[in-house]
Amino acid sequence: MEVALVTVGDELLSGDTLNSNAAWLGRRLHERGVTVERSTTVPDRVADIARVVNEYRAEYDAVLVTGGLGPTHDDLTMEAVAAALGRPVEESAEALAWLEEHGGYASDDLAKGTADLPAGARVLHNTVGVAPGCVVDDVYVFPGVPDEMKAMFEGVAEEFSGEIQHVSVVPAAEPESALLDRIETLRESFDVKVGSYPGEFVRVRLEGEEDEVERAAAWLRDRVEAPEE
Ligand code: ATP
Ligand code: MG
Repeated sequence: MEVALVTVGDELLSGDTLNSNAAWLGRRLHERGVTVERSTTVPDRVADIARVVNEYRAEYDAVLVTGGLGPTHDDLTMEAVAAALGRPVEESAEALAWLEEHGGYASDDLAKGTADLPAGARVLHNTVGVAPGCVVDDVYVFPGVPDEMKAMFEGVAEEFSGEIQHVSVVPAAEPESALLDRIETLRESFDVKVGSYPGEFVRVRLEGEEDEVERAAAWLRDRVEAPEE
């Protein structure tokens, strides 16, 4: 399964807020065997949100959007997703009823627009906060607040699956350029995806079928200088 992430928020682009939602979703989806093919951050602007949602919806099995829910002036995601799908926005009676029953809110107390969703969407209730999310035409809309997003994602996590890949990381205390020959031989000899990530030491990341990855990791470990413990 291949998916795309769209994280919405001016504060993410300006660097005021670290985009932890994209990192967390990327990790959780990878764990489930799902490939994240794109991760794009867009400003709080209807046309920009709608454009990427539409593009990614055509290309991938699902699009996961976070941020910009709720009734304040910069919360435009539901309107944008509805526009992308050519649907109107409607107040969801189901979302309102759930908030009254489980959230302890009288519907008159909720800010206008709180339960507005694209018409025909499946409601995703917010067990941690207020603003509901939704699923509509393989577009999943989650809140921006990380704890709310995580709880809501876990409720639908089973809808995301793929072939789970095994990962092994081999650290090497050598310059990345010095490792090129061994990485090349490794890639020729084993059916694994290889990534090389320099830092304090180089982390060579191997991904694929478990036995093959472990054989490749053992081969490489024998041929690189290990960092000191
Ligand atoms: P609510 O459910 O409260 O209405 P929301 O969906 O409207 O939330 P935003 O208004 O976009 O979400 O953001 C709410 C909070 O979550 C802000 O403090 C924001 O910085 C943070 N947030 C939003 N997106 C992300 C993200 N991608 N990673 C980390 N934090 C985020
Ligand atoms: Mg926002």
